[in-house]
Amino acid sequence: MAFDATVLTLYPEMFPGPLGLSLSGRALERGDWSLDARQIRDHATDRHRSVDDTPAGGGAGMVLRADILARAIDAAAPEGDPRPRLLMSPRGRPLDQTRVRELAAGPGALVVCGRFEGVDQRVIDARGLEEVSIGDYILSGGELGAMVLLDAVVRLLPGVMGNAESGETESFETGLLEHPHYTRPREFEGLGIPEILTSGDHARIDAWRRRKAEELTRERRPDLWERHEEHDDRPRR
Ligand code: SAH
Repeated sequence: MAFDATVLTLYPEMFPGPLGLSLSGRALERGDWSLDARQIRDHATDRHRSVDDTPAGGGAGMVLRADILARAIDAAAPEGDPRPRLLMSPRGRPLDQTRVRELAAGPGALVVCGRFEGVDQRVIDARGLEEVSIGDYILSGGELGAMVLLDAVVRLLPGVMGNAESGETESFETGLLEHPHYTRPREFEGLGIPEILTSGDHARIDAWRRRKAEELTRERRPDLWERHEEHDDRPRR
Protein backbone atom coordinates (compact mmCIF):
# COMPACT_ATOMS: atom_id res chain seq x y z
CA MET A 1 0.00 0.00 0.00
CA ALA A 2 1.33 3.40 -1.00
CA PHE A 3 1.90 6.10 1.62
CA ASP A 4 -1.38 8.01 1.89
CA ALA A 5 -1.10 11.69 2.91
CA THR A 6 -4.07 13.93 3.65
CA VAL A 7 -3.42 17.58 4.47
CA LEU A 8 -6.04 19.77 6.11
CA THR A 9 -5.43 23.41 5.31
CA LEU A 10 -7.01 26.77 4.54
CA TYR A 11 -4.77 26.92 1.46
CA PRO A 12 -5.13 23.60 -0.41
CA GLU A 13 -4.00 25.37 -3.59
CA MET A 14 -0.47 25.47 -2.09
CA PHE A 15 -0.26 21.70 -2.70
CA PRO A 16 1.40 19.76 -4.17
CA GLY A 17 3.55 22.85 -4.89
CA PRO A 18 7.20 21.86 -4.56
CA LEU A 19 6.14 18.28 -3.73
CA GLY A 20 4.90 17.98 -7.33
CA LEU A 21 8.44 18.40 -8.72
CA SER A 22 11.63 16.36 -8.79
CA LEU A 23 11.92 13.23 -6.63
CA SER A 24 8.64 13.60 -4.73
CA GLY A 25 6.76 14.70 -7.86
CA ARG A 26 7.88 11.69 -9.87
CA ALA A 27 7.00 9.44 -6.93
CA LEU A 28 3.56 11.06 -6.81
CA GLU A 29 3.06 10.42 -10.53
CA ARG A 30 4.16 6.79 -10.15
CA GLY A 31 1.73 6.34 -7.27
CA ASP A 32 4.41 5.60 -4.67
CA TRP A 33 2.45 7.98 -2.48
CA SER A 34 -0.78 9.95 -2.71
CA LEU A 35 -1.62 13.46 -1.57
CA ASP A 36 -5.05 14.87 -0.85
CA ALA A 37 -5.10 18.52 0.28
CA ARG A 38 -8.48 19.41 1.73
CA GLN A 39 -10.07 22.74 2.52
CA ILE A 40 -10.92 23.08 6.23
CA ARG A 41 -13.33 25.88 5.30
CA ASP A 42 -15.62 23.39 3.54
CA HIS A 43 -16.70 22.35 7.03
CA ALA A 44 -17.72 25.81 8.20
CA THR A 45 -21.41 26.23 8.88
CA ASP A 46 -22.18 29.94 8.85
CA ARG A 47 -22.94 32.20 5.94
CA HIS A 48 -19.45 33.70 5.95
CA ARG A 49 -17.79 30.27 6.09
CA SER A 50 -15.71 31.46 9.04
CA VAL A 51 -13.28 29.02 10.63
CA ASP A 52 -11.70 31.13 13.36
CA ASP A 53 -12.75 33.26 16.30
CA THR A 54 -11.24 35.50 18.97
CA PRO A 55 -9.23 33.84 21.75
CA ALA A 56 -11.03 33.10 25.00
CA GLY A 57 -9.41 35.26 27.68
CA GLY A 58 -8.61 37.98 25.18
CA GLY A 59 -5.41 38.88 23.41
CA ALA A 60 -4.23 39.29 19.86
CA GLY A 61 -5.12 37.22 16.84
CA MET A 62 -7.61 34.52 16.06
CA VAL A 63 -7.90 30.83 16.87
CA LEU A 64 -9.06 27.99 14.61
CA ARG A 65 -12.34 26.66 15.96
CA ALA A 66 -12.39 23.17 17.49
CA ASP A 67 -15.78 22.15 16.09
CA ILE A 68 -14.99 23.01 12.47
CA LEU A 69 -11.54 21.45 12.53
CA ALA A 70 -12.94 18.32 14.22
CA ARG A 71 -15.48 17.93 11.42
CA ALA A 72 -12.74 18.31 8.83
CA ILE A 73 -10.64 15.68 10.62
CA ASP A 74 -13.55 13.25 10.96
CA ALA A 75 -14.40 13.56 7.28
CA ALA A 76 -10.79 13.00 6.20
CA ALA A 77 -9.86 10.30 8.70
CA PRO A 78 -12.89 8.55 10.15
CA GLU A 79 -12.51 6.38 13.23
CA GLY A 80 -10.46 3.30 12.40
CA ASP A 81 -8.19 5.14 9.97
CA PRO A 82 -4.79 3.78 11.02
CA ARG A 83 -2.80 6.86 9.99
CA PRO A 84 -1.19 9.04 12.65
CA ARG A 85 -2.81 12.45 13.04
CA LEU A 86 -0.24 15.20 13.09
CA LEU A 87 -0.63 18.88 13.83
CA MET A 88 2.10 21.20 12.63
CA SER A 89 2.94 23.29 15.70
CA PRO A 90 5.95 25.16 17.07
CA ARG A 91 5.11 23.61 20.45
CA GLY A 92 5.48 20.08 19.11
CA ARG A 93 8.33 17.63 19.39
CA PRO A 94 10.99 18.73 16.91
CA LEU A 95 10.87 16.53 13.83
CA ASP A 96 13.93 14.32 13.41
CA GLN A 97 15.08 11.60 11.05
CA THR A 98 13.98 8.85 13.45
CA ARG A 99 10.37 10.07 13.42
CA VAL A 100 10.56 10.60 9.65
CA ARG A 101 11.64 6.97 9.24
CA GLU A 102 8.80 5.74 11.46
CA LEU A 103 6.28 7.73 9.46
CA ALA A 104 7.69 6.43 6.16
CA ALA A 105 7.26 2.86 7.41
CA GLY A 106 3.58 3.50 8.22
CA PRO A 107 0.38 3.76 6.16
CA GLY A 108 0.50 7.53 5.70
CA ALA A 109 -0.42 10.59 7.73
CA LEU A 110 -3.15 13.11 8.31
CA VAL A 111 -1.42 16.48 8.60
CA VAL A 112 -3.29 19.45 10.03
CA CYS A 113 -1.94 22.90 9.20
CA GLY A 114 -2.60 25.65 11.71
CA ARG A 115 -3.00 29.33 10.87
CA PHE A 116 -3.53 32.49 12.92
CA GLU A 117 -2.55 32.01 16.59
CA GLY A 118 -3.07 28.26 16.33
CA VAL A 119 -5.93 25.86 17.01
CA ASP A 120 -8.31 25.40 19.93
CA GLN A 121 -6.70 23.04 22.47
CA ARG A 122 -9.84 20.92 22.73
CA VAL A 123 -9.57 19.55 19.20
CA ILE A 124 -5.93 18.61 19.85
CA ASP A 125 -7.03 16.65 22.92
CA ALA A 126 -10.26 15.21 21.54
CA ARG A 127 -8.75 13.97 18.26
CA GLY A 128 -5.39 12.91 19.73
CA LEU A 129 -3.31 15.16 17.48
CA GLU A 130 0.46 14.70 17.72
CA GLU A 131 2.08 18.13 17.60
CA VAL A 132 5.13 18.25 15.34
CA SER A 133 7.54 21.19 15.06
CA ILE A 134 10.01 21.70 12.24
CA GLY A 135 12.24 24.00 14.30
CA ASP A 136 12.45 26.76 16.86
CA TYR A 137 11.05 29.61 14.80
CA ILE A 138 7.53 30.71 13.89
CA LEU A 139 6.02 30.20 10.44
CA SER A 140 2.85 31.98 9.41
CA GLY A 141 1.11 28.67 8.80
CA GLY A 142 1.60 24.92 8.97
CA GLU A 143 1.65 24.37 5.18
CA LEU A 144 5.38 24.81 4.65
CA GLY A 145 6.00 22.64 7.69
CA ALA A 146 3.76 19.92 6.25
CA MET A 147 5.70 20.10 2.99
CA VAL A 148 9.00 19.77 4.84
CA LEU A 149 7.69 16.74 6.71
CA LEU A 150 6.23 15.07 3.61
CA ASP A 151 9.35 15.74 1.54
CA ALA A 152 11.51 14.10 4.20
CA VAL A 153 9.16 11.09 4.41
CA VAL A 154 8.57 10.56 0.70
CA ARG A 155 12.24 10.31 -0.24
CA LEU A 156 12.51 7.31 2.10
CA LEU A 157 9.61 5.38 0.56
CA PRO A 158 10.60 2.18 -1.25
CA GLY A 159 11.66 2.87 -4.82
CA VAL A 160 11.73 6.66 -4.51
CA MET A 161 15.42 7.32 -4.09
CA GLY A 162 17.45 6.25 -7.11
CA ASN A 163 20.42 4.99 -5.21
CA ALA A 164 19.12 3.29 -2.08
CA GLU A 165 22.55 3.43 -0.51
CA SER A 166 22.71 7.20 -0.56
CA GLY A 167 20.04 7.22 2.15
CA GLU A 168 22.21 5.39 4.61
CA THR A 169 25.30 7.54 4.90
CA GLU A 170 23.30 10.77 4.93
CA SER A 171 23.57 13.20 7.84
CA PHE A 172 21.69 11.92 10.94
CA GLU A 173 21.21 8.39 9.61
CA THR A 174 24.43 7.33 11.33
CA GLY A 175 24.03 9.81 14.19
CA LEU A 176 26.72 11.93 12.53
CA LEU A 177 26.73 14.78 10.05
CA GLU A 178 27.84 13.68 6.61
CA HIS A 179 31.42 14.02 5.31
CA PRO A 180 32.19 16.67 2.66
CA HIS A 181 31.67 15.90 -1.04
CA TYR A 182 33.80 16.66 -4.10
CA THR A 183 33.36 16.18 -7.83
CA ARG A 184 34.89 17.43 -11.08
CA PRO A 185 36.78 19.53 -11.95
CA ARG A 186 39.86 18.16 -10.21
CA GLU A 187 41.04 21.69 -9.60
CA PHE A 188 38.77 24.62 -8.79
CA GLU A 189 40.24 28.11 -8.24
CA GLY A 190 43.51 26.54 -7.20
CA LEU A 191 41.82 24.10 -4.83
CA GLY A 192 42.32 20.39 -5.32
CA ILE A 193 40.39 17.34 -4.15
CA PRO A 194 41.76 15.52 -1.07
CA GLU A 195 44.20 13.06 -2.58
CA ILE A 196 42.83 10.06 -0.77
CA LEU A 197 39.50 10.38 -2.64
CA THR A 198 41.24 9.85 -5.96
CA SER A 199 43.36 6.96 -4.68
CA GLY A 200 40.83 4.24 -5.44
CA ASP A 201 41.57 2.69 -2.03
CA HIS A 202 38.05 2.17 -0.71
CA ALA A 203 38.99 1.13 2.80
CA ARG A 204 41.07 4.28 3.26
CA ILE A 205 38.36 6.40 1.65
CA ASP A 206 35.76 5.00 4.08
CA ALA A 207 38.05 5.68 7.02
CA TRP A 208 38.68 9.25 5.81
CA ARG A 209 34.96 9.91 5.38
CA ARG A 210 34.22 8.52 8.79
CA ARG A 211 36.91 10.72 10.37
CA LYS A 212 35.60 13.83 8.58
CA ALA A 213 32.04 13.05 9.66
CA GLU A 214 33.20 12.76 13.26
CA GLU A 215 35.21 16.00 13.10
CA LEU A 216 32.31 17.94 11.60
CA THR A 217 29.82 16.59 14.12
CA ARG A 218 32.10 17.35 17.07
CA GLU A 219 32.69 20.91 15.88
CA ARG A 220 29.22 21.86 14.71
CA ARG A 221 26.83 19.77 16.71
CA PRO A 222 28.17 18.96 20.18
CA ASP A 223 24.64 17.78 21.07
CA LEU A 224 24.67 15.10 18.37
CA TRP A 225 28.26 14.20 19.16
CA GLU A 226 27.49 13.62 22.82
CA ARG A 227 24.58 11.33 21.93
CA HIS A 228 26.74 9.52 19.40
CA GLU A 229 29.46 8.92 21.99
CA GLU A 230 26.90 7.56 24.44
CA HIS A 231 25.69 5.02 21.89
CA ASP A 232 29.11 4.20 20.58
CA ASP A 233 28.81 0.52 21.50
CA ARG A 234 26.00 0.11 18.95
CA PRO A 235 26.87 -1.87 15.88
CA ARG A 236 27.86 0.53 13.11
CA ARG A 237 26.15 0.54 9.76
N1 SAH B 1 0.88 31.42 18.35
C1 SAH B 1 1.60 30.23 18.04
C2 SAH B 1 2.19 30.28 16.63
C3 SAH B 1 1.18 30.23 15.53
S1 SAH B 1 1.90 30.25 13.95
C4 SAH B 1 2.71 30.03 19.06
O1 SAH B 1 3.26 31.02 19.54
O2 SAH B 1 3.05 28.88 19.36
C5 SAH B 1 0.57 29.63 12.96
C6 SAH B 1 0.65 28.17 12.56
O3 SAH B 1 1.85 27.95 11.83
C7 SAH B 1 0.70 27.18 13.71
O4 SAH B 1 -0.58 26.85 14.15
C8 SAH B 1 1.40 25.98 13.07
O5 SAH B 1 0.49 25.15 12.37
C9 SAH B 1 2.33 26.63 12.06
N2 SAH B 1 3.71 26.72 12.54
C10 SAH B 1 4.35 27.85 12.91
N3 SAH B 1 5.61 27.59 13.28
C11 SAH B 1 5.80 26.27 13.15
C12 SAH B 1 6.89 25.40 13.39
N4 SAH B 1 8.06 25.84 13.84
N5 SAH B 1 6.73 24.09 13.13
C13 SAH B 1 5.55 23.61 12.67
N6 SAH B 1 4.47 24.39 12.45
C14 SAH B 1 4.57 25.71 12.66
